Order: sequence, then structure tokens, then C-alpha cells
Amino acid sequence: MRVIPNNITVSEGRFFIDVAEHGCGNGCKYCYISDPAGPQVVIGYEKFIKSLNYILKHPDFKPGRNGSIITLSPNTEPLKSIESKRLVKEVFRYFLKNGNHIQIATKEIVDEDILNYIRNARLYTEQVIVYITITTITNQMIIEPYTSSIDRRLGNFLLLKKHAVLSCLYIKPIIQATIDDIDKFGEVVTKYCPDLICVGFMTQKETTDDKGFDVLYRNDKHFYNLLTLGANKDIKNFSNYLASKSTGLVFNTSVCIWAFLNNSFPVPYIWRQFPELCMECRSCEQDYINVNG
Ligand code: SF4
Repeated sequence: MRVIPNNITVSEGRFFIDVAEHGCGNGCKYCYISDPAGPQVVIGYEKFIKSLNYILKHPDFKPGRNGSIITLSPNTEPLKSIESKRLVKEVFRYFLKNGNHIQIATKEIVDEDILNYIRNARLYTEQVIVYITITTITNQMIIEPYTSSIDRRLGNFLLLKKHAVLSCLYIKPIIQATIDDIDKFGEVVTKYCPDLICVGFMTQKETTDDKGFDVLYRNDKHFYNLLTLGANKDIKNFSNYLASKSTGLVFNTSVCIWAFLNNSFPVPYIWRQFPELCMECRSCEQDYINVNG
């Protein structure tokens, strides 16, 4: 992994683009960044555009459906303000026409003008997936104090259907409060019918705040730290329960979602490197042998 402009991270062919210099503004108790409560300091427009041009010229960048996956915005809420939304729109303007798959995760309301733009500019239906992140339903106001309410977030699924943009209920991270809400998550998937469901990783409690909730701070290796904790029995049970309540497919990683929709192999090779996260949605292992010998 190497870092280029400070809002861009490149990893295994994926480009992660942050819209903020610092801070988030959602204030989630389990967050790993240094200043989750913010205020979010959005990157200046000119500097942001330079970082997008940098990606287009980067030797690892590949346009097209089978090219680089673009992920917005791993370390901060992308739809927090008018300024951050302006930058998000630029990412769509730059990369939809190149055919790249784009993922965006949010705990805010998705503006209809963004969805309209996506629908008109995308080159194929699966090009964009909007991940609506929910970790707790009962305790949102305590654990995610400055986010949109759960009801408003759930309203996104209706907006996404209206604009025919693929939706994913993104349950990440999984904390004890998530597991405790399993029945409520079941009701949500039955009522709102997200196109896809992604059940994330169990986080490890490092400290507890004064209300008894898990507080997690991790460095930039958090992804692999969390992967090694894997999908334990609680997560498997949780995933299977949601699958029984839903018409949407359930996965443990977004890379598998894209691999499934694109009929390609997930990178990292989930079925081999992290088999406990493989949902066996298809036969990656055998297909890989057939293709590569
Ligand atoms: S079979 Fe497993 S590794 Fe392959 S895409 Fe499905 S969940 Fe991922």
C-alpha cells in the first residue's frame, strides 16, 4: 500500500478517495480515525481536483468496468455538508464516464440530484452501489450522536429504488449493540428490501466509555486487523438470520459484492485468504482453478 496525495490511498488496484483533510463530524464511538466528532475540514476544491487528476495519471489506475474500483470516502462522512457533496459529485463526474465501479458509504441522506446524476451518467446499472451504513438501531443517538437518524437513513432505500440505483445495507462495524439489535435488523431488511446486504467484521473492544459502550480506535491497518478477527459465530448467525428475512444477497465484504455482480474474482482473494468471510455465493475456488490452472 502507498499513499499519494493525502486524501488518496491505493491498495490492490482500488483507489480510496477522502473528501476531508481531517475529522468526520459523525462522532461514532467505535471509530478508528483521530477526530470522529470533527469538525470535518473539507479539502479545498482545487486541491481535490488535482488529486482526481493524479489518479487518472497513476500507473495503477485502470479505467473500465474491470478496472480500478473507486471507494468514497473511507475515513470521513462523504455527504456531511454542501462542500463535501460538491467534491463527491466531482468524483462521479470524473469516474462514471471512465466506466469504473464506484462505492460510496454514508450515514446521511443521499441527495436526489446526486442520484439523478448517477442514473443519467453511469454506463451500466451496477456501476454505483450506495452503502447505507447502520451499526446500531436502538442506540444510534448515543453511539453515533451526530449522524442522521435511523428513520432518515432508512428513507434512503426508498430514494435509491426511485432512482434505480443499487443499495446495500452496510452493517459495519459489528459491535455488541449490533448483535443485540438482530430482530430489528431483520425487520428492516424485510420492510426496506435493500438490493444487497453487507455484514461487516466483529470489532474488538479495546476500551469502554462511561455509558458502557465499546470504544475502538485503530490505526490505518484497521482493515486487516479487523479481518483477522474474522466472521465469528455471532457474525455467521447474524448473516444467516438476515438472509432468511431478506430477498437481498448477504455478503461479508464489499469486494465480494462487486466480484459477484461483475463475475470477477474478489481482491483480496477472500475464499482463500479469509475463508471465514466467504459466503460461497458462487464457486470462486473452482472457477479460479479453471481459469488459472
Ligand atoms: S464465493 Fe466467496 S470469495 Fe467468491 S465472491 Fe462469493 S463470497 Fe466472495
